[in-house]
Amino acid sequence: MVLTPALVGITSTIPIEVLYAAKIKPVDLNNRFITAPFPQTFLDEAERDGLPRNTCSWVKGLYTTILQSGIKTVIGVVQGDCTHLHAMLEALLPDRADFVSFAFPYDKNRYLLRFEIEKMMEVFGVQWDAVKAAKKRLDFIRVLAHELDRRTWQSNVLSGRDNFNVLINCSDFKSDPDQFQAELESLLVTPKPPYPQSMLRLGLIGVPAIYSDLFEFVETMDARVVFNEIPRQFAMPNYSGDVLEQYLSYTYPYSIFGRIADIAEQTMVRRLDGYIHYVQSFCHHQIEDMTFRKHLHLPILTLEGDRPGPLDGRSRTRVEAFLEMLRSQQSKS
Ligand code: SF4
Repeated sequence: MVLTPALVGITSTIPIEVLYAAKIKPVDLNNRFITAPFPQTFLDEAERDGLPRNTCSWVKGLYTTILQSGIKTVIGVVQGDCTHLHAMLEALLPDRADFVSFAFPYDKNRYLLRFEIEKMMEVFGVQWDAVKAAKKRLDFIRVLAHELDRRTWQSNVLSGRDNFNVLINCSDFKSDPDQFQAELESLLVTPKPPYPQSMLRLGLIGVPAIYSDLFEFVETMDARVVFNEIPRQFAMPNYSGDVLEQYLSYTYPYSIFGRIADIAEQTMVRRLDGYIHYVQSFCHHQIEDMTFRKHLHLPILTLEGDRPGPLDGRSRTRVEAFLEMLRSQQSKS
Protein backbone atom coordinates (compact mmCIF):
# COMPACT_ATOMS: atom_id res chain seq x y z
CA MET A 1 0.00 0.00 0.00
CA VAL A 2 1.37 3.43 -0.97
CA LEU A 3 1.49 5.93 1.92
CA THR A 4 0.42 9.51 1.15
CA PRO A 5 0.39 11.46 4.42
CA ALA A 6 0.66 15.26 4.19
CA LEU A 7 3.51 15.31 6.76
CA VAL A 8 6.17 12.78 7.64
CA GLY A 9 8.37 13.17 10.71
CA ILE A 10 12.09 12.55 10.43
CA THR A 11 14.40 11.92 13.39
CA SER A 12 17.62 12.32 11.42
CA THR A 13 18.71 13.36 7.95
CA ILE A 14 17.51 10.85 5.36
CA PRO A 15 17.07 11.11 1.56
CA ILE A 16 14.27 13.68 1.76
CA GLU A 17 14.31 13.98 -2.02
CA VAL A 18 11.99 10.94 -1.93
CA LEU A 19 9.47 12.75 0.28
CA TYR A 20 9.53 15.96 -1.74
CA ALA A 21 9.16 13.89 -4.93
CA ALA A 22 6.01 12.39 -3.36
CA LYS A 23 4.74 15.92 -2.49
CA ILE A 24 5.01 15.09 1.21
CA LYS A 25 6.39 17.63 3.68
CA PRO A 26 9.18 16.29 5.89
CA VAL A 27 9.28 17.65 9.43
CA ASP A 28 12.58 17.44 11.29
CA LEU A 29 11.30 16.56 14.75
CA ASN A 30 14.57 17.64 16.42
CA ASN A 31 14.23 21.19 15.10
CA ARG A 32 10.56 21.34 16.01
CA PHE A 33 11.30 20.14 19.57
CA ILE A 34 14.18 22.49 20.28
CA THR A 35 12.47 25.58 18.84
CA ALA A 36 9.26 25.00 20.85
CA PRO A 37 8.57 27.77 23.40
CA PHE A 38 9.15 25.49 26.44
CA PRO A 39 11.07 22.39 25.30
CA GLN A 40 11.86 21.41 28.93
CA THR A 41 8.19 20.57 29.49
CA PHE A 42 8.40 17.98 26.69
CA LEU A 43 10.83 15.97 28.80
CA ASP A 44 8.53 15.93 31.83
CA GLU A 45 5.67 14.73 29.67
CA ALA A 46 7.75 11.90 28.20
CA GLU A 47 8.92 10.84 31.67
CA ARG A 48 5.32 10.88 32.93
CA ASP A 49 4.47 8.51 30.07
CA GLY A 50 7.21 6.14 31.20
CA LEU A 51 10.40 7.00 29.30
CA PRO A 52 13.30 6.35 31.69
CA ARG A 53 14.76 9.43 33.38
CA ASN A 54 18.22 8.44 32.18
CA THR A 55 17.22 8.57 28.50
CA CYS A 56 18.78 11.28 26.31
CA SER A 57 16.73 14.50 26.30
CA TRP A 58 16.51 14.52 22.51
CA VAL A 59 14.75 11.13 22.58
CA LYS A 60 12.28 12.33 25.21
CA GLY A 61 11.76 15.60 23.36
CA LEU A 62 11.09 13.83 20.08
CA TYR A 63 8.64 11.47 21.76
CA THR A 64 6.47 14.36 23.00
CA THR A 65 6.91 16.26 19.72
CA ILE A 66 5.46 13.33 17.77
CA LEU A 67 2.48 13.07 20.12
CA GLN A 68 1.78 16.81 20.23
CA SER A 69 2.19 17.34 16.47
CA GLY A 70 -0.27 14.60 15.57
CA ILE A 71 2.23 13.29 13.01
CA LYS A 72 1.39 9.64 12.45
CA THR A 73 4.16 8.57 10.10
CA VAL A 74 7.81 8.85 11.06
CA ILE A 75 10.89 7.65 9.19
CA GLY A 76 13.03 5.82 11.72
CA VAL A 77 16.72 5.35 10.95
CA VAL A 78 17.39 1.85 12.27
CA GLN A 79 21.04 1.78 11.23
CA GLY A 80 23.42 4.71 11.21
CA ASP A 81 21.74 6.84 13.82
CA CYS A 82 20.47 5.94 17.29
CA THR A 83 19.15 2.76 18.87
CA HIS A 84 17.47 4.83 21.61
CA LEU A 85 15.31 6.54 19.00
CA HIS A 86 14.56 3.19 17.42
CA ALA A 87 13.29 1.85 20.77
CA MET A 88 11.29 5.04 21.41
CA LEU A 89 9.54 4.74 18.04
CA GLU A 90 8.66 1.13 18.77
CA ALA A 91 7.07 2.30 22.03
CA LEU A 92 4.63 4.39 19.94
CA LEU A 93 3.46 1.39 17.92
CA PRO A 94 0.83 0.49 16.91
CA ASP A 95 -1.77 3.18 17.51
CA ARG A 96 0.10 6.41 18.38
CA ALA A 97 2.41 6.51 15.35
CA ASP A 98 3.85 4.19 12.77
CA PHE A 99 7.34 4.24 11.35
CA VAL A 100 8.99 3.46 8.05
CA SER A 101 12.47 2.10 8.61
CA PHE A 102 15.54 3.31 6.79
CA ALA A 103 19.06 1.89 7.17
CA PHE A 104 22.36 3.46 6.13
CA PRO A 105 24.74 0.56 5.34
CA TYR A 106 27.75 0.86 7.66
CA ASP A 107 30.16 -0.24 4.93
CA LYS A 108 28.77 2.37 2.50
CA ASN A 109 27.65 -0.33 0.12
CA ARG A 110 26.18 1.46 -2.89
CA TYR A 111 23.81 -1.39 -3.77
CA LEU A 112 22.43 -1.60 -0.24
CA LEU A 113 21.90 2.15 -0.08
CA ARG A 114 20.14 2.05 -3.44
CA PHE A 115 17.94 -0.76 -2.13
CA GLU A 116 17.02 1.29 0.97
CA ILE A 117 16.18 4.38 -1.08
CA GLU A 118 14.11 2.37 -3.55
CA LYS A 119 12.29 0.70 -0.65
CA MET A 120 11.33 4.16 0.58
CA MET A 121 10.33 5.19 -2.96
CA GLU A 122 8.02 2.19 -3.13
CA VAL A 123 6.42 3.06 0.23
CA PHE A 124 5.67 6.61 -0.92
CA GLY A 125 4.92 5.70 -4.56
CA VAL A 126 7.55 7.65 -6.50
CA GLN A 127 9.97 6.94 -9.35
CA TRP A 128 13.59 7.95 -9.92
CA ASP A 129 12.79 10.78 -12.37
CA ALA A 130 10.72 12.56 -9.68
CA VAL A 131 13.42 11.98 -7.05
CA LYS A 132 16.08 13.42 -9.37
CA ALA A 133 13.90 16.45 -10.07
CA ALA A 134 13.43 16.99 -6.32
CA LYS A 135 17.19 16.81 -5.82
CA LYS A 136 17.73 19.44 -8.50
CA ARG A 137 15.31 21.77 -6.71
CA LEU A 138 16.90 21.19 -3.29
CA ASP A 139 20.45 21.48 -4.64
CA PHE A 140 19.66 25.03 -5.72
CA ILE A 141 19.02 25.86 -2.04
CA ARG A 142 22.06 23.87 -0.88
CA VAL A 143 24.21 26.18 -3.06
CA LEU A 144 22.88 29.16 -1.08
CA ALA A 145 23.45 27.40 2.26
CA HIS A 146 27.06 26.58 1.42
CA GLU A 147 27.68 30.12 0.23
CA LEU A 148 26.47 31.33 3.65
CA ASP A 149 28.75 28.75 5.27
CA ARG A 150 31.69 30.12 3.24
CA ARG A 151 30.83 33.64 4.36
CA THR A 152 31.05 32.41 7.96
CA TRP A 153 34.62 31.15 7.85
CA GLN A 154 36.11 33.07 4.91
CA SER A 155 34.45 36.49 4.89
CA ASN A 156 33.78 36.31 8.65
CA VAL A 157 30.39 38.00 8.37
CA LEU A 158 28.03 35.31 9.68
CA SER A 159 27.72 34.36 13.34
CA GLY A 160 28.09 30.78 14.55
CA ARG A 161 24.38 30.84 15.42
CA ASP A 162 23.27 31.99 11.94
CA ASN A 163 25.58 29.43 10.39
CA PHE A 164 24.08 26.70 12.57
CA ASN A 165 20.50 27.71 11.75
CA VAL A 166 21.12 27.78 8.00
CA LEU A 167 22.85 24.40 7.87
CA ILE A 168 20.74 22.47 10.39
CA ASN A 169 17.53 23.43 8.61
CA CYS A 170 18.76 21.80 5.42
CA SER A 171 17.66 18.50 6.99
CA ASP A 172 14.04 19.24 6.00
CA PHE A 173 14.25 22.70 4.34
CA LYS A 174 11.84 23.81 7.07
CA SER A 175 9.12 21.77 5.29
CA ASP A 176 8.82 24.61 2.76
CA PRO A 177 11.73 24.96 0.30
CA ASP A 178 10.38 28.15 -1.31
CA GLN A 179 10.09 29.96 2.01
CA PHE A 180 13.46 28.63 3.20
CA GLN A 181 15.11 29.75 -0.04
CA ALA A 182 13.69 33.26 0.46
CA GLU A 183 15.15 33.33 4.01
CA LEU A 184 18.60 32.37 2.76
CA GLU A 185 18.46 34.90 -0.09
CA SER A 186 17.53 37.60 2.40
CA LEU A 187 20.52 36.67 4.60
CA LEU A 188 22.77 36.80 1.56
CA VAL A 189 21.78 40.36 0.64
CA THR A 190 21.78 41.74 4.19
CA PRO A 191 25.10 43.52 4.64
CA LYS A 192 26.94 42.68 7.88
CA PRO A 193 30.23 44.00 9.23
CA PRO A 194 32.98 41.38 9.45
CA TYR A 195 34.02 39.97 12.82
CA PRO A 196 37.58 40.92 13.89
CA GLN A 197 40.28 38.62 12.51
CA SER A 198 41.74 38.34 16.01
CA MET A 199 38.86 36.22 17.34
CA LEU A 200 39.60 32.58 18.14
CA ARG A 201 38.20 30.18 15.54
CA LEU A 202 36.38 27.14 16.88
CA GLY A 203 34.99 23.94 15.43
CA LEU A 204 31.87 22.59 17.14
CA ILE A 205 31.92 18.85 16.58
CA GLY A 206 29.52 16.12 17.70
CA VAL A 207 25.74 15.93 17.87
CA PRO A 208 23.88 19.28 17.85
CA ALA A 209 24.20 20.97 21.24
CA ILE A 210 21.08 21.29 23.37
CA TYR A 211 22.27 24.57 24.91
CA SER A 212 20.43 27.71 23.86
CA ASP A 213 23.31 30.19 24.23
CA LEU A 214 26.59 28.42 23.42
CA PHE A 215 27.35 30.45 20.27
CA GLU A 216 26.51 33.73 21.93
CA PHE A 217 28.55 32.89 25.04
CA VAL A 218 31.76 32.10 23.13
CA GLU A 219 31.36 35.35 21.19
CA THR A 220 31.42 37.30 24.47
CA MET A 221 34.81 35.65 25.04
CA ASP A 222 36.28 36.84 21.74
CA ALA A 223 35.83 33.51 19.96
CA ARG A 224 33.54 32.27 17.19
CA VAL A 225 32.28 28.95 15.92
CA VAL A 226 33.25 28.87 12.24
CA PHE A 227 32.68 25.16 11.71
CA ASN A 228 29.48 23.35 12.68
CA GLU A 229 30.42 19.79 11.85
CA ILE A 230 27.15 17.83 11.80
CA PRO A 231 24.84 20.67 10.62
CA ARG A 232 27.21 21.15 7.63
CA GLN A 233 26.76 17.46 6.85
CA PHE A 234 22.97 17.90 6.98
CA ALA A 235 23.41 20.47 4.18
CA MET A 236 25.20 17.81 2.09
CA PRO A 237 28.56 19.40 1.23
CA ASN A 238 29.00 16.82 -1.54
CA TYR A 239 25.68 17.34 -3.27
CA SER A 240 27.13 17.60 -6.77
CA GLY A 241 27.03 13.86 -7.55
CA ASP A 242 23.91 11.76 -7.94
CA VAL A 243 21.54 10.94 -5.06
CA LEU A 244 23.51 7.84 -4.08
CA GLU A 245 26.87 9.59 -4.16
CA GLN A 246 25.48 12.43 -2.08
CA TYR A 247 24.25 10.12 0.69
CA LEU A 248 27.39 7.97 0.57
CA SER A 249 29.62 10.98 1.17
CA TYR A 250 27.38 12.25 4.00
CA THR A 251 29.62 11.34 6.94
CA TYR A 252 27.28 11.17 9.97
CA PRO A 253 25.72 7.68 9.63
CA TYR A 254 28.88 5.76 8.79
CA SER A 255 32.25 5.10 10.45
CA ILE A 256 33.70 7.83 12.66
CA PHE A 257 36.84 7.82 10.51
CA GLY A 258 34.98 9.50 7.64
CA ARG A 259 33.97 12.22 10.09
CA ILE A 260 37.54 12.58 11.33
CA ALA A 261 38.85 12.98 7.77
CA ASP A 262 36.23 15.66 7.12
CA ILE A 263 36.98 17.48 10.40
CA ALA A 264 40.73 17.37 9.70
CA GLU A 265 40.24 18.83 6.22
CA GLN A 266 37.95 21.60 7.45
CA THR A 267 40.38 22.36 10.28
CA MET A 268 43.00 23.32 7.69
CA VAL A 269 40.61 25.13 5.36
CA ARG A 270 38.96 27.13 8.16
CA ARG A 271 42.16 27.67 10.16
CA LEU A 272 40.65 26.42 13.43
CA ASP A 273 42.30 27.00 16.81
CA GLY A 274 40.46 24.28 18.75
CA TYR A 275 37.33 22.19 19.02
CA ILE A 276 34.40 22.02 21.36
CA HIS A 277 33.18 18.42 21.27
CA TYR A 278 29.58 18.53 22.40
CA VAL A 279 28.28 15.31 23.94
CA GLN A 280 24.78 14.59 25.14
CA SER A 281 24.15 12.93 28.49
CA PHE A 282 23.23 9.26 28.12
CA CYS A 283 24.27 9.20 24.44
CA HIS A 284 26.44 6.44 22.97
CA HIS A 285 28.30 9.04 20.87
CA GLN A 286 30.15 10.04 24.07
CA ILE A 287 32.48 7.10 23.46
CA GLU A 288 33.66 8.83 20.27
CA ASP A 289 35.47 11.41 22.40
CA MET A 290 38.31 8.91 22.87
CA THR A 291 38.70 8.41 19.13
CA PHE A 292 38.58 12.14 18.38
CA ARG A 293 41.30 12.77 20.97
CA LYS A 294 43.45 10.08 19.43
CA HIS A 295 43.17 11.28 15.84
CA LEU A 296 42.60 15.04 15.92
CA HIS A 297 45.54 17.29 16.66
CA LEU A 298 44.08 20.46 18.13
CA PRO A 299 42.97 21.04 21.75
CA ILE A 300 39.49 19.66 22.48
CA LEU A 301 37.05 20.74 25.16
CA THR A 302 34.45 18.03 25.78
CA LEU A 303 31.24 19.68 26.88
CA GLU A 304 28.36 17.59 28.14
CA GLY A 305 24.78 18.86 28.10
CA ASP A 306 21.59 17.30 29.38
CA ARG A 307 18.39 19.37 29.29
CA PRO A 308 17.52 22.27 26.93
CA GLY A 309 18.36 25.73 28.24
CA PRO A 310 21.32 28.04 28.80
CA LEU A 311 24.82 26.91 29.77
CA ASP A 312 25.15 26.12 33.48
CA GLY A 313 27.79 27.84 35.61
CA ARG A 314 30.25 24.95 35.55
CA SER A 315 30.13 24.65 31.77
CA ARG A 316 30.64 28.41 31.40
CA THR A 317 33.73 28.23 33.59
CA ARG A 318 35.10 25.32 31.58
CA VAL A 319 34.52 27.13 28.26
CA GLU A 320 36.18 30.26 29.66
CA ALA A 321 39.23 28.31 30.86
CA PHE A 322 39.52 26.51 27.51
CA LEU A 323 39.40 29.75 25.53
CA GLU A 324 41.98 31.34 27.82
CA MET A 325 44.25 28.35 27.26
CA LEU A 326 43.84 28.67 23.47
CA ARG A 327 44.53 32.39 23.69
CA SER A 328 47.71 31.87 25.70
CA GLN A 329 48.86 29.17 23.26
CA GLN A 330 48.21 31.57 20.40
CA SER A 331 50.24 34.37 22.00
CA LYS A 332 53.21 32.02 22.52
CA SER A 333 53.31 30.87 18.90
S1 SF4 B 1 21.98 12.63 21.23
FE1 SF4 B 1 22.62 10.49 21.05
S2 SF4 B 1 21.15 9.30 22.25
FE2 SF4 B 1 20.29 11.32 21.90
S3 SF4 B 1 19.02 11.09 20.06
FE3 SF4 B 1 21.02 11.82 19.40
S4 SF4 B 1 22.19 9.96 18.92
FE4 SF4 B 1 20.41 9.34 20.16
